[in-house]
Amino acid sequence: MASPKSDVHSSSVTNTGRHLLFIDGVWAEPMEGGFFPIVNPATEQVIGEAAAATAPDVDKAVKAARRAFAGGWGKSSGASRAVYLRAMAARIMERKEELARLEVADNGKPLPEALWDIDDVAGCFSMYADLAEALDQRQNEPLALPDDRFKTVLRHEPVGVAAQIIPWNYPLLMAAWKVAPALAAGATIVLKPSELTPLTAIELGNIANDVGLPKGVLNVLTGFGGPAGASLVAHPDVDKVAFTGSVPTGSKIMMKAAEDIKTVSLELGGKSPFLVFDDADVENAVEWVMFGIFWNQGQVCSATSRLLVQDKIAPKLYARLAEEAAKIKIGDGFEDGTLLGPLVSKSQYDKVVAAVDRGRKDGVKLLTGGNRPANLNTGYFLEPTVFVDVPTDHPLWREEVFGPVLAARTFHDEAEAVALANDSTFGLAAAVMSKDKGRCARVAEALEAGIVWINCSQPTFLQAPWGGVKKSGIGRELGHWGLENYLEVKQVTSYESDDAWGWYIKSGN
Ligand code: NAD
Repeated sequence: MASPKSDVHSSSVTNTGRHLLFIDGVWAEPMEGGFFPIVNPATEQVIGEAAAATAPDVDKAVKAARRAFAGGWGKSSGASRAVYLRAMAARIMERKEELARLEVADNGKPLPEALWDIDDVAGCFSMYADLAEALDQRQNEPLALPDDRFKTVLRHEPVGVAAQIIPWNYPLLMAAWKVAPALAAGATIVLKPSELTPLTAIELGNIANDVGLPKGVLNVLTGFGGPAGASLVAHPDVDKVAFTGSVPTGSKIMMKAAEDIKTVSLELGGKSPFLVFDDADVENAVEWVMFGIFWNQGQVCSATSRLLVQDKIAPKLYARLAEEAAKIKIGDGFEDGTLLGPLVSKSQYDKVVAAVDRGRKDGVKLLTGGNRPANLNTGYFLEPTVFVDVPTDHPLWREEVFGPVLAARTFHDEAEAVALANDSTFGLAAAVMSKDKGRCARVAEALEAGIVWINCSQPTFLQAPWGGVKKSGIGRELGHWGLENYLEVKQVTSYESDDAWGWYIKSGN
């Protein structure tokens, strides 16, 4: 049985039906949790219902994943897994438009952004197909030892059953970043998408069946953080937990996983700085600054949400930023020309508006935005918002807002810029803009972050490692680093000499 057919071919998406849980290759009713509504954040309309998994569903899914792992997937060759990954990539591209439309309806992002996401999703499955094949060549690779009586070879073996818990900002892309490397490694999966954006993860279940992925290799449980997510993390037969989301949830997951010594990888939040030096081209800087904070409505973990501008260039840059930010077309992601959609949900909207209101109340200087657009009464819309001269102890400067809200302030010299940038509990990304390449290189080295962009912000390549330092997480996704998240390395060491070892039993005795 397939998940219900939706009306995704219409210009928008109004009814996607009632969606079940994908367990062991079939669509299953939730055992205890019932269903929850899926809301389009641009229209506030309910566009479907998804099953709310609870502990008994989690147990069923983990058991299915374990059977699939032991039943052959865990021992299959990388080359055979690559065939499925490539088939999934192809199917995703066949359904690109449809998947992108589901993403717009579910998440609110503008359609061109969603189409771009789906290209990346397919690219991710293709790249991990290549890495799965390459993994076969790495099996039994010899390790040089200082004692030639011994020989060690290395095996790279899948971790087992992986629990994967993802957020709502790039619903299918975040799933791909986890599912594709796990499949490539030979792990089996229980995926839990965010309760706010379950639709495309559900389609991943249909895609798995379309390409004949063995039953139980991928299971998709929709549902809430506690009953579904926490139950999954706590399940004793889960070997690895991979999580992307907020710091408080990441911390809870790490504590729970510690009870069973499960391995964890965490991709968490950020408050990433963007440093603009006074030799930068202002127009170029404004373009990248806006891309860094308004793309995906600012709901980007790596959003460069703290702007540091050298004092000499600040008045001009602020003026152009205010002008351009006010021109951004806000609206339904299905409308042509929309550059800023709604925030993902009512609760996210309320959270972002509360952060803006707090800034206002505390007298932080609002350069532009800060309001619901006058022509949009329905939907979770907020104008692109920029605060300037933000005090370094203000929550707008220190805390992740996760919306189209930029906090800016000036600096005098390079040392001050780096000190301000690094004064954060987060360390996901950072950007620096200057015509002086030597300065860019120096600053890049000094910034405490997992990702540094020079003269740009946000370009993300599937081949490059993704992840942060400090409270922004543990581990790296993407590239071969992503694959290692789902592999255990085993050493196989043999004694190759014909001579007796002779510790207890001496030769000649
Ligand atoms: P969230 O932590 O609220 O939820 C993320 C996921 O965890 C959801 O699927 C949720 O249902 C689940 N969850 C909630 N409580 C849980 C629990 N106790 N146990 C297990 N699972 C639980 O985060 P969000 O609001 O969905 O996403 C926004 C956050 O994600 C931001 O902080 C953002 O920076 C971060 N993020 C980081 C990256 C990255 O790569 N570093 C990427 C995207 C988003």
